[in-house]
Order: sequence, then structure tokens, then C-alpha cells
Amino acid sequence: MTSEPAVIFQSPREHYAAQACVVWCFDDRFYKLLKAFGKQNGLKNIDLVKVAGGAKALAGGPSPERDFVLNQVKTSIRLHGAKRVILMLHRDCGAYGGSKNFENGDVERKNHETQLRAAKDFLADEIPGVAVDAYFADFDGLYEIL
Ligand SMILES: [Zn+2]
Repeated sequence: MTSEPAVIFQSPREHYAAQACVVWCFDDRFYKLLKAFGKQNGLKNIDLVKVAGGAKALAGGPSPERDFVLNQVKTSIRLHGAKRVILMLHRDCGAYGGSKNFENGDVERKNHETQLRAAKDFLADEIPGVAVDAYFADFDGLYEIL
């Protein structure tokens, strides 16, 4: 018995190497920013871990969410040889209670910078030698956090 596909579309059958494993918030306002980032950085194939809060789970203490995201990153490296990990947090993220949860925009950004550095340190401890880049997504663009 054959059935008609709901959508006719040719997906690539070839396996690939991932240039990066990207941990991004599922907030759709920042999805096009991810596409632009990938284009500007020549990221042809990425493994996208798209979860509420993005890198937030990696910045806190032990939790099922942290285990889940960490395992997704490790799996990307194992299956697709991801060369680097890209972490993202963004302004007005519901996982942090939104911008209204902060005294002002600077306080919000500083908080997210601290969180990103904690997430980076955590991954460096868990996956020795891994290259991790962290970014803060704002409504006017993407900022690398060193
Ligand atoms: Zn978010």
C-alpha cells in the first residue's frame, strides 16, 4: 500500500558533519536572527538544540533540563563531529520572566552575560577541549559575549 505524502519535499540523504551545535531559545522572534548568523558565518550544517531559555539550562545548577541539553550537545559532537558549540540567550526571554523582570535593559544584559559565562564554564568542564562561543541576542542584532 502506498500513501501520498502530506508534503512533497526532497530532504538530503547524505550524512553530514556539523560546523556547530547551537543551543538557541525557541522564541520565534529570534529565529531569523539565527538564520542570518548561520549565513554570515558559513554554517552549512548545524545541529540545533532549540529549547525554551536557550543556554539557561546550562547556566544553573544540576537539573533534568541541564542533563538533557548537555546530552544533546554531546550527541551532536559524537554523531556529527560538531566543531564548536554556540550558546545563546536573548532579551525579553520568557524563561527569565521577560525584560520586565529586570530593573532596566543594562541589568538584564549584564545578567545574561553572567549566565552565558557560567554556561560556557560548565561546558568546558564537562567536555574538555570543546570550543564554545556565547551570544546575547538583542532586538537590533547579535552580540558576542567573551
Ligand atoms: Zn527565550
